[in-house]
Amino acid sequence: MTKSNIEYRDITSKNTEVISQVVETHCFPQLNCRSWRLAVETNNIRDWTKVPTHCLKYVSYYMLGKQYRLECEAVANAAIEYAKSIKVGPHDVWIFDIDETALSNLPYFSRPDVDFGACPYNETLANEWDSAGKAPAIPAVLEVYKTVVSLGINPVFLSGSSQKYRAVRKANLIEAGYTSWILLILKEDNDTRSAVEFKTSWIKSLITSEYRIVGNIGDQWSDLIGENPGARTFKVPNPMYYIA
Ligand SMILES: [Mg+2]
Repeated sequence: MTKSNIEYRDITSKNTEVISQVVETHCFPQLNCRSWRLAVETNNIRDWTKVPTHCLKYVSYYMLGKQYRLECEAVANAAIEYAKSIKVGPHDVWIFDIDETALSNLPYFSRPDVDFGACPYNETLANEWDSAGKAPAIPAVLEVYKTVVSLGINPVFLSGSSQKYRAVRKANLIEAGYTSWILLILKEDNDTRSAVEFKTSWIKSLITSEYRIVGNIGDQWSDLIGENPGARTFKVPNPMYYIA
């Protein structure tokens, strides 16, 4: 074998090794799940009904690990910086969504019969959890709330969760540290509007009542994409479920 042949074979085998590493990495299920989550967060994948089964482990690590908290903090820091930059007026309002925004349902979603959204939605189980009123605050969003209140901006809670649990949800918010608001808007069970329609109509009536929506924070795009969603919107991550 000539010298050049040996070199060629070495280079080829090195290339093959590199290529196979790239292919392996690309096919590694966790990476695909990262791509799925990015697509979900950027609203490129819509109308999904459950977390892909092979991404259950990835989503569980993400939600229970540091990354989810860090990403909530990054959103909250941007929201706080923006809130502090506003010249606040008496009719300024900041809209807070409740589930997976002000409050976390992670204790419920981490149960094996819910599996971080990899199990199909079960209304009975979800209602049981809601009626218990034990959701903790998402600490980063609580900081946004505290800043908003300290600046004199009026908080409004606007959520598609059921009006029938109003008393328990109210107590849950207070228990978690959200102690005051000018409006707590929940959805009637016979209201068949989509989340976007429901939220847009309430925001419209706030604006008609001469409120100025200076900020809006939610975990769903449907919280933030309606007509006049607010001067600035902030999205916290949620790879566990999708609401249109
Ligand atoms: Mg929500």
